[in-house]
Amino acid sequence: MRLRTPDRRFVIPAKAGIQGFLSLFLASSAFAADYAGPLFDAHLHYNVEAFNGAEGPHPIPDVLGRMQRSGVRAIISNSRPNDGTRSLAQSPLTAQAGVTVVPFVRLYRNRADYTNWFRDDTIYDMVQAELARGTAAGPYRGIGEFHLYDSANAKGPVALKLMVLAEEKDLAVLAHVDDTAVDLLMAHTPSKGAKLRLIWAHTGIGGPPAARVDQMMARYPRLMGELSYRPGLTCEGGKLCPEWRALILKYPGRFLVGSDTWVNQRWQAYEDTMKAYRTWLGDLPADVARRVAWDNGASLFGLKQP
Ligand SMILES: [Zn+2]
Repeated sequence: MRLRTPDRRFVIPAKAGIQGFLSLFLASSAFAADYAGPLFDAHLHYNVEAFNGAEGPHPIPDVLGRMQRSGVRAIISNSRPNDGTRSLAQSPLTAQAGVTVVPFVRLYRNRADYTNWFRDDTIYDMVQAELARGTAAGPYRGIGEFHLYDSANAKGPVALKLMVLAEEKDLAVLAHVDDTAVDLLMAHTPSKGAKLRLIWAHTGIGGPPAARVDQMMARYPRLMGELSYRPGLTCEGGKLCPEWRALILKYPGRFLVGSDTWVNQRWQAYEDTMKAYRTWLGDLPADVARRVAWDNGASLFGLKQP
């Protein structure tokens, strides 16, 4: 006689008894366990509202505590203004918390810059000055996050100059744009996008279908997809939806996770956000989970294993 559950993998001889059940139960829950390794947060802002010049509501020890409790060991930091990133980079507490800062130049000095940066030459000058200045954690490694609410603005003169600069200096670009704007930004680099390391924030927040994301990944070999706020990513129980699971398995080296702490509420939810990532990462093969969680980001910027 055999005991049988609906899943044929769990067909076991009755004589295995309670111990057999127990070990199968443990094995199946281990399979579904949350990812427990290090995380690379590829989309972090430490904006002025978080610390208000010094103290609060989320001073450096507070945000580092949230990262530490979440197992976040490296961050792409980009902040409005860039002082937030510089202060994280230079604080001795950051190294003590075991967090590596990968600094990006944010294009915004203030909120007005969100809708004008792509045609404002003073933004280009500010980027040049920041790149020359660097941070205590080393030179800037990228540009962004920037937004294009109207994809046609990807053709703005400053947007074009910045893409050329990024490709020439091998700076990554963190872009919150739609798929049309990705095509436009890529088209205007000297390599027509073959060499531009573009990290696509939210992998398209407007939610282009997985098939379209697949097309973009195939077309641009250095395109990376960051997955915060991505519509349609997770289904029941916080697990990956089938088409996204298939996409990540098809391109295991091309996706990243991020917190997007664009407002203080996101800091308050930081640990929950990371916990949610760990849930769906745990449903992937262990090596793929590790790549999306850590290795992909770490290898982009040559970080050591934590
Ligand atoms: Zn953001």
